[in-house]
Amino acid sequence: MHLQNYVFLVVLIAALAFFAKSALRLISYLRVAKPTNRLFNIPKRISTTLLVGFGQSKILRDPVAGPIHAAIFWGFLILLFSASEMILEGLHDGWSFSFLGPVYTVITVLTDLFCVAIILSTLFAMWRRYISKIVRLQFHGEQLEAGLILLTIFCIVSALFVQNGLREHVHGADFAWAFRPFASPVGSMLYGMLGDASGAVFYVAWWTHAVLILAFLNYLPFSKHLHVLTSIPNVFLGPIAPTNAMEPIDFEEEGAERFGIVDIEDFTWKSLLDGYTCTHCGRCTSVCPAYQTGKVLDPRGVIVSIHARTMDKAPLILKKESGQELTEAEQAIWDKKLVGDYISPEALWACTTCGACMQECPVNIEHVPAIVGMRRSMVMMESQFTEESALLPDVYGNLENNAVPWGGFAQSDRANWAEGMGIKTAAEDPDMEVLFWVGCAGSYDERSKKITKSFAELMQIAGINFRILGTEEFCNGDVARRTGNEFLADSLTKTNIETLNRYSVTKIVTTCPHCFNTLRNEYSQYGYQAEVIHHTVFIGQLIDQGKLKIDKAALSASTITYHDSCYLGRYNGEYDAPRDVLESVPGVKLVEPSKSQDRAMCCGAGGGRMYMEETVGDRVNIVRTNQLLDTGATTIAVNCPFCTTMITDGVKAADKVDEVQVLDVSEVVRQHVNA
Ligand code: SF4
Ligand code: SF4
Repeated sequence: MHLQNYVFLVVLIAALAFFAKSALRLISYLRVAKPTNRLFNIPKRISTTLLVGFGQSKILRDPVAGPIHAAIFWGFLILLFSASEMILEGLHDGWSFSFLGPVYTVITVLTDLFCVAIILSTLFAMWRRYISKIVRLQFHGEQLEAGLILLTIFCIVSALFVQNGLREHVHGADFAWAFRPFASPVGSMLYGMLGDASGAVFYVAWWTHAVLILAFLNYLPFSKHLHVLTSIPNVFLGPIAPTNAMEPIDFEEEGAERFGIVDIEDFTWKSLLDGYTCTHCGRCTSVCPAYQTGKVLDPRGVIVSIHARTMDKAPLILKKESGQELTEAEQAIWDKKLVGDYISPEALWACTTCGACMQECPVNIEHVPAIVGMRRSMVMMESQFTEESALLPDVYGNLENNAVPWGGFAQSDRANWAEGMGIKTAAEDPDMEVLFWVGCAGSYDERSKKITKSFAELMQIAGINFRILGTEEFCNGDVARRTGNEFLADSLTKTNIETLNRYSVTKIVTTCPHCFNTLRNEYSQYGYQAEVIHHTVFIGQLIDQGKLKIDKAALSASTITYHDSCYLGRYNGEYDAPRDVLESVPGVKLVEPSKSQDRAMCCGAGGGRMYMEETVGDRVNIVRTNQLLDTGATTIAVNCPFCTTMITDGVKAADKVDEVQVLDVSEVVRQHVNA
């Protein structure tokens, strides 16, 4: 070994030791949070990681920024190989992986291609950030830091490119299997220009590359670029299916005193890891219906704030745990509130729980459980409501007294819609093929009752032996759960499960995607198992089985657009069945809105927003309705009673009531099926 090798060894050991200290510090912060098991279903985790993490599947959905980021990511994976070669070369002059033969050829070609791609991508990224000024990229004065990072990446890769080009001239022809289609000609040109001085240039480039890589590694734990290290683990440990169920709370747990997320120690370690992993890319914010319509909610800001609170408070928790006293300044930080000082309650109440943020996040961060978790503490610990959510205590009172969110309705009237239709309740005759779960809107709301009747008639026409629970059906608990009143949701859930078990119900159909999601994905957390079907899927099955026959003679050509509800679409991945049903009606021409399927915009009613005021910014339902009206369709088909209300109001606001009708999928079918 030469002197420079010893110098590099010292630099390397110092850099790795400092990095290990930083990494251990960050890992110790995760210990302050609650445990959660994220190691089940390993095969699915591996495939998700390969697809979303290594395959960059979410990133690549953006046709402009996607390929840029993917090129940088894949390039870095290839360059990791070069980095390890660089370290070994630093310890032993002229060392290389060329003994790998043809494999080395592939690696050197890819390294060369990615060097060029990354150099061009970083230049393009700088142009987008500083010259085009893409709105999503302008966040909280991060411009300087982002610029320095791009410049560092540019220098790291350019230095590698130069040293690769000059290597064969400096070390002779030791690298027989190396093939660098871009660097070699550039190296030859430099060698021709610089002659013997090219050796010095090589070593300057080598040391620049080595020092910048080691410096960058040590900078990562202190920056938003920590995601370079945590993204792949976060995807691996993240959700392996749509996050469509909230974790229940065990209220009977001995000593339980804190409910919901009061501060960082109430999150699971995975939520804190989400904070480490957020790339600040803003994809979540750019699709958030609340943010798009001018509300204070910024899902990126929520995750960034959770991270900020983690970095502020976790060291203090550890300090206290070790028996040390906090200083006055530290006590002031300790006394701050996560909800209030870091995240505004208004932001949390603005969320519709639509899930668009999680759908879009390239590193599978889970915003909704965090937001609802903080709502839980606001409701159950603080009884804290804002101007917009001020009506919720009344909603809870209605649920407690009459098992329905709206006031003025009696539980005894729940089955009034069925009068004269010859529909039996489970209490009258429990022998059933399927239970029709009607839901609160379907039972009481005048417009929704028409949908309920329409679907019930279709089942009668198809000869389905169904029952309803009638006055024994309570609100499923979704409103209480999504607004943070888990105590009430827990009670409603247990009451309903008791009733369902009493009648041995094993198959349920419902016209409401919120009921559908809750019964399907959340009641199972309480041990209740049943096949739960959304009515659009059920109608499709009846048509396929020939039990429902479309009356072709009654049809005229009609253009229909379809609005995907969040809880059927993003939450449960059902996009095709409602479209197939609509298209099974001859004469129907289905046109897609600009935002559809998993990128459909929320109607604005989810997450309990149906029961809150909307006083800030534009109305979500109007923005969404305008997207649907822009298709030029004369019918807007929906699959949810809340969407029906919101979109109908949107059509009224656009003064299009005489031109455009809003119909549930079941109503479209019912219009074309003879009794
Ligand atoms: S769930 Fe929807 S409304 Fe809530 S933060 Fe995410 S995108 Fe915004
Ligand atoms: S939460 Fe995800 S989508 Fe949002 S800014 Fe962070 S990494 Fe991007």
